[in-house]
Amino acid sequence: MSLEPHVQHRILAAYNARRSGGPRATLVAARRNRRTLASVRRLADGRVRLNVARAVVSAGPEAWDLLGPALQGSRDARKRLARLSRKGLKAAARAASEPGKAPGRNGRNPAPLPDTPCQGSQHQQQVLQRIVQWARSTSGHAEAFPDHLQLRVSRRMSSTYGSHMTRGGTHRVTITHRLFRAGLEDILLDTVLHELAHLLDALTNGRGRSFHDASWRRWCRRLGATPDRLMSPTSARRVRRARGEDAPCALPAAVARWAREESP
Ligand SMILES: [Zn+2]
Repeated sequence: MSLEPHVQHRILAAYNARRSGGPRATLVAARRNRRTLASVRRLADGRVRLNVARAVVSAGPEAWDLLGPALQGSRDARKRLARLSRKGLKAAARAASEPGKAPGRNGRNPAPLPDTPCQGSQHQQQVLQRIVQWARSTSGHAEAFPDHLQLRVSRRMSSTYGSHMTRGGTHRVTITHRLFRAGLEDILLDTVLHELAHLLDALTNGRGRSFHDASWRRWCRRLGATPDRLMSPTSARRVRRARGEDAPCALPAAVARWAREESP
């Protein structure tokens, strides 16, 4: 099983970030062997290779995060890794037996999302991009984020504040233009994180979809989103009242602080 470069990169990043002691690996290889889920080997030329079972690769980022602790002797991490890998193996077998069908999508071969234009102003697009960059680089879970993520501001979306979509290997987060107004920065941030939590949950829970359940709430906690399905009545009222104003929003405070430190 040869691994795609971006998968190799993510597995290595997850292992290296969470190992405490043990050598830093620069190579990764997938193995068929089912008994050993992972091992680290120093090659003759001095480089260190991380060997992982096929089942671990299929199990996704949640399992990759456990590689470091499991290889350094954590029994709990080993158990959780074994459990996730069993699930990963089943999902891979299902996908292999139904060529052309993505797991979790009954009988449909989904086409990638079309590259529709973003309806927001340039300022709104930049704010949205900055928030996602901030979440990616400060959450400690950068490797779980997809490489290509379409970010959209919608001028039509009015009954909901945000949505996420993932289809045929493409991913999109859409946020209503109504949240890009001065004074609503905290609500905008929470909404973007809510949708990102859905996206990362759908990418890692093995079902390809995300509900407002325990695995989604775990992603909310990792990203710092409020783990509630609905916006609080107070926040919803603030959004309704902001309707008349058209002052553009600033970056949410935490994102602005981070942006200043990034580019002094
Ligand atoms: Zn939701």
